[in-house]
Amino acid sequence: MKKNFLFLLTASLIASCSPQSQRADYALSWEGDGIGVAVTLTSPNDTVLFTYASDAGGQTDQMSWLQDLTVSQGEVLVDSATRELTILTDGGQARFSYVIRCTLPEGYGSPGGCLMDVFRPDIDDKMLFSRTENIFVVPRDDDEMPVSVTWTSVPDYPVFCLYNAGHGTERFDGAASDISFSVMAGDPLLTVDTVMVDGNLHYLVTALRKNVEKNKADLKDYFRTFYASISNFWNEEYKAPYSMLVFPFRNNTFDMTGNGFRNGFVSRYDATADTIMNKDRRDLFTHEIGHKWLNNGTIWFAEGFDEMQTGYQFVASGLEDPSYFATYFNAALAGLHKNPYRNAAGKEAEERFWDDNDYTWLLYWRGFSYAFHLTGLYEKETGQPNAWKPMMQAVKPFLDDFSAEKFLDAMAKLMDRKRLEKDYQTYMQEGKDFDFFVEDLPTGCKIVRQNDGTPQLVITDSVAFARHFQ
Ligand SMILES: [Zn+2]
Repeated sequence: MKKNFLFLLTASLIASCSPQSQRADYALSWEGDGIGVAVTLTSPNDTVLFTYASDAGGQTDQMSWLQDLTVSQGEVLVDSATRELTILTDGGQARFSYVIRCTLPEGYGSPGGCLMDVFRPDIDDKMLFSRTENIFVVPRDDDEMPVSVTWTSVPDYPVFCLYNAGHGTERFDGAASDISFSVMAGDPLLTVDTVMVDGNLHYLVTALRKNVEKNKADLKDYFRTFYASISNFWNEEYKAPYSMLVFPFRNNTFDMTGNGFRNGFVSRYDATADTIMNKDRRDLFTHEIGHKWLNNGTIWFAEGFDEMQTGYQFVASGLEDPSYFATYFNAALAGLHKNPYRNAAGKEAEERFWDDNDYTWLLYWRGFSYAFHLTGLYEKETGQPNAWKPMMQAVKPFLDDFSAEKFLDAMAKLMDRKRLEKDYQTYMQEGKDFDFFVEDLPTGCKIVRQNDGTPQLVITDSVAFARHFQ
C-alpha cells in the first residue's frame, strides 16, 4: 500500500510540471455597477498570451469596459489594439484583477438598433447581460485549459450562466472554451424552468414582463416539438442540457435578435411585446437552435446553410407545410436581389460582414440560395428528392472544423465535381446572380422573375415538392 502511495505521489508531481498543468481560476464579485474578475493563472511557462473580447457586432472599444486592472503577482502587458494580454508569470503564477463595467454611449437603446444590446455588456443593479467573451480573458492558444469560476458576491437578482446551466452562480469547473463564448444574464424577474425532451432535461430561461404563463407554455411547446425533430434529423442523442434564453431588451423596442451557441441560444426582444411566440420570433429561435450544428466556418455556410436548415426543418418537423419553405426562401431571394452589395465578391462580403446591415445579410441569403441550388443538383444527379439530409450527413464529420475546401470535397462525392467547382467560383466567389436554370431545380417548383427581376420560387407540383422534406 505504502509503495503504491509513493508511486501516486511521484506521478502527481510529474503531472504538475507538465505543460498540461496550465490553468486559470476566476473569482467573480458583484460590484453594483459591474463585475469584478480576479484571475489566478498557474502555468509552467514564463509567458502566456491571453485574448479579450472579439470584434463581433462591429465592436471597436472593448478595452474601454475592461477597467481598474490591478496586478498582484507577475506582470500583465495589454495591447489594446489587438486586445491581447501578455502575462508574465512569477513562480509559476500570475494574479491580476479587473472590473467589467458597461459603457453604453448616449442614445443607447434607440429603436431600430440592436447589435449594441447583444454584444456589449449591460450591467447594473436592475439588469445584467453580457457575452462572456467580454468578461473572461482566456488563453489565445489553449482552448482546453482547465478553468474554474466562482462568485464571491452576487447581485440581488438571480443570474443564469449558459456555461453553467441550471447551476446559477455556483462553482463551475470546465475548459476555457466553455466560458470563452457564452452568455450570462440576470434580472429581478428571471426564472429558470425545465423542459423535458425525449427524457433529457433542458432549460427555458425568461424574464417575462407580460403574460408569463401563456408565454412560457408557448415557448415550451415549440421547443419540445422542434428540438426533438432537429435532434432526430442529425441522428444524435444529445443528453447535455440545452438552454433557451429569451431575455428582454432593457429599453429597446427592436423586435428581436439572437445568438446561437452549441449548448443554447439567447434571444433579446422587445420587452413590451405581449406574445413572445409570433412567427418572426419562432423563425429566429429556429435559426438559433440550428447553430447548435451549423456554427463554424465561413459565414455563407454558418448563416446561409443555417437559413436553409431553418426553412427545411419547419416543414420536416411538421410545424409548417411545404409552402412555408417557399415563403421563407422567397424572402431571402427578394432580400438578396435588393441588396446593394448583391454582386460583391465572396472575400469582400466576408471581410465587410459587420460594416453595415446590408453586408451582414448578404451572406445569409447568398448562402441560402447556394444551398437550395445544390439540393437541385443533387436530385438531378441521384434522382433522390430529399437532398438536404444526405448533404448534411456528408458535412457532419467536419462541422467543428469546416472549410470551403472540405465542403467541396464532400459535395463532390454526391455530385459532379467540375460543375460544383464552376458554380462555387461563379456564385460564391465572384458573386454573380444565381441562374436557377430550369433543369437544375428541385422537382415540383420553378423560379419566376417579377417585373423588377426579383426571382421567386413557385411550387408547381405540391406532391413532388413535399418529397424534398420526407
Ligand atoms: Zn445566425
